[in-house]
Parts: sequence; structure tokens; C-alpha cells
Amino acid sequence: MLIKDVSLLHSGQLVSGRDILIEEGRIARVGRGLKDESGDEAIDGHGKLAIPGLINCHTHLAMTLLRGYADDMELMPWLQEKIWPLEARLTEEDIRWGVKLGCLEQIRHGITCYNDMYYHPDTTAQATREMGLRAFISGVVFDMKPELLGQVEPFIRRWKSDPLITPAVGPHAAYTCSEETLLKAKEIADRHNCMIHIHLSETRSEVDGFLLSKGMSPVEYLDSLGLLGPRLAAVHCVWLSPEDCFLLAERGANAVTCPVSNLKLTSGIAPLNVMLQAGVNVCLGTDGASSNNNLNLFQEMKVGAITQKNAYHTPAAFTADQIWGMATENARQAFRLDLGLHQGALADLSLIDLKKPWLCPQSNMVSHLVYSMSGGVDSTIVNGKVLMNGGIIPGEKEILERAQERFLHLTS
Ligand SMILES: [Zn+2]
Repeated sequence: MLIKDVSLLHSGQLVSGRDILIEEGRIARVGRGLKDESGDEAIDGHGKLAIPGLINCHTHLAMTLLRGYADDMELMPWLQEKIWPLEARLTEEDIRWGVKLGCLEQIRHGITCYNDMYYHPDTTAQATREMGLRAFISGVVFDMKPELLGQVEPFIRRWKSDPLITPAVGPHAAYTCSEETLLKAKEIADRHNCMIHIHLSETRSEVDGFLLSKGMSPVEYLDSLGLLGPRLAAVHCVWLSPEDCFLLAERGANAVTCPVSNLKLTSGIAPLNVMLQAGVNVCLGTDGASSNNNLNLFQEMKVGAITQKNAYHTPAAFTADQIWGMATENARQAFRLDLGLHQGALADLSLIDLKKPWLCPQSNMVSHLVYSMSGGVDSTIVNGKVLMNGGIIPGEKEILERAQERFLHLTS
């Protein structure tokens, strides 16, 4: 497949008139005047910007079905009074259409890979495969449902060799999993060399609870169990001490920040500057649409950057380039994905329509992508397969209808 006459970002500058040749799910060449022998129809890239696919580093995609169901509440009452009782009624069919709805939305926002944690990971994986996205999918584990732990390893074995789905282990949080559960989750992850996906230090009360009961922070506690390492995606990391930041950096653990969810649930503002200065690999996620309420990393970048500026009382505190780097290079490093518009990289990318008022004048394109992007993703490609072209996603109408039906059924 050939994308003809497209623009690219090169060291932050826009360059135009390039072709991208895709063969067998990878980028075979990027250059001028390329020829495609495959016989596939070429994609017209004129007036469009190609960017590598974005990775949504934390979400619960099935919860897209719960968008708008419970707003304006703090984390614990939100979970205990609204989310957990409804989740207890979720069927696999609800999860299937919630996941497909979430995939649809992510394709529209140029997200080509996501990192998920939820129940029924097989259903999530199957629905994701049908939608064509790449994903890291964790079977969630916590003590209230002890049977979940035993289901993780068979799930990993079933999906280990899939080209698009990478299975992982998802102990929900240090406050919902016992020491024994956390150690078993680590053992499984070590045995299969897979990632551990956990919520960490999201609220002040979580951290206070650990300091009182164990005399250490949740970060120190996970370290005492040997969980901090390069295969860890620690999500939220809002209430970290400088010592916690240095510990995460020293162990090579990845932190995932979800600024919109943290602000909406008033959980707090993560110390991104301190984390970056300490050398933590920080990347970006949306969290579930039930606490965000969308799956849009462009919006996440803007909110993340401007919140930091306010937290540190200076506009210089966080730049567009810094947050763009977190959303792109840092995410690729965390998930070890060879993404980018270079020869040999995975052919996961999207095309953005440059003829939108919010991208004009074409000056500082990274700034536009972070601060002014308001839609306009025209095409999304994953593993060399076109999932959206010219804004059209096959099957979109059915997914919207089925998701609406499932929501009405669930809440009736
Ligand atoms: Zn979450």
C-alpha cells in the first residue's frame, strides 16, 4: 500500500511531498516518487499530515458504555455507589459492545494501540481483534473476586502469540490486592515476561492509609515486594514524594498519567515535572470514558500541559514538546513498540487533515497538535490495515446502535 504526497513532521518541522510505502504490516520506505507493486489502491495524502499511531497507555475500554452514567463525584463514592454496582450486572455482550465503541472512538482520534485493564479480558481481546487495533490487555485481579487470579495465566497462554494482542497481568491496586495476590501476579508476569498494569497512588487517602498502616508509601510498598521494574505500568502516580519519583526512576518503572480523570474526580495533579526531572518514563492515558469522559489523547495532552503550568505557577513549567514526547516516544519505550515513520517500523499511523481552521496558519505544528487540535483525523492504519479512510469506518452505525441498546438494557 502506498500513501502518496503526504506531509510529515521532521524535528518538529513540517515537510511535504513524501510517500510512505507499507508492506506486510511495516513501513518499507519513506521518500519521494515511490512505486507500489502490490496493486492496492493508493491513499491520497495531499494536504494531510502523517503521524505515528498514538498509544493510550491506560484505559478500561468496556467502561465506554458507562460514559456519562456517573459524573461529579469523588473516586471512592463514585466507585462504591455507582460504578461497582453497575459493573456487577455487566454481561460479556455489554463488554463486547463497550469495547467496540471504545475502539471506534480511539480510531477517530488516531489511537492505534491501547493498554487495558478489565474483567473478561478474552472478550475485550476478541472485540479488539475484530476492530483491528493493537492492544495490551490485562486480566484484572483483586481480592474481592479471588477467582480472577486463577484466570489470568490461561488468558495469557491463549493470546501470547497473537500479532496484535499482548496479554498482561492487572492487579487493580495495592489497596485492593493483598501482599499474597500482588506476589502471585508478579510471579505470573515474570514467568511469561509480560507487563504488570496497576493503579498506584491515585488519591491522597490511599497514600495516607499506607503511611499509617505500613509506615511506607504505596510506591515503597510495591518496591518491597519487587514489583517496580521496566515491565510495570503504574497508573496515576498523583501523590508521589520526591523519594517515590527517584525510586520509580531507579527501578526503570513506567508511570502513566491521566490528567483529565484525575482532575474530574478531584484526585489531584501528578507531579510530572518532578517525575521527569527524576528520570521517570512518564506516558499518557485517558483512563476509562466513565471518568474522563472521552478517549482523546490530544485533549489529554493539552489538559496535562496547562495543568502543570498552573501547578508550578509558570507557563514555562511544561512545554508542548515535553507533553508530545510523553504521548509518543515515552509510550513507545514503555510498551517496546517500534513505532514511527521510518523504515522497518510497524505500520501504525494516522493522517490528519491539515485544512482545518485550528491547524492554520501552519507554523508550529507540535504546538497545534497539543494546544489546538479539535478533530480532523482523516485516516487510521494499524498493522498496515486501513481502519478508517476519509473519516469512514466500516460498521460504525451498527456499533453505535448496539452500544445504545446495551446501555438501555443495563440501566433499565
Ligand atoms: Zn483506571
